[in-house]
Amino acid sequence: MRSSHARRRRWRTLLPPINDRRPRDLDRARAIQAVAVALRDGRLEKLPCEVCQAVEGVEAVHDDPAAPLDVRWRCPAHMQGRP
Ligand SMILES: [Zn+2]
Repeated sequence: MRSSHARRRRWRTLLPPINDRRPRDLDRARAIQAVAVALRDGRLEKLPCEVCQAVEGVEAVHDDPAAPLDVRWRCPAHMQGRP
């Protein structure tokens, strides 16, 4: 049964132990999800990058994951929050 053993090992690497997941990451994941829902519902509008006005690949950047709809829009080049 080599194949099932290999599959179980692969599964373990895909799913790290629960205590490896930090709450900060969960907050961020929730914030990203909230933005996706708000965009779909029309409560939030996707805007050009605040720095260079690019529209390609723009994503929401959270200053505070506790305020998931308080976002800045940044292109990949300006994603790190620096002008
Ligand atoms: Zn930009």
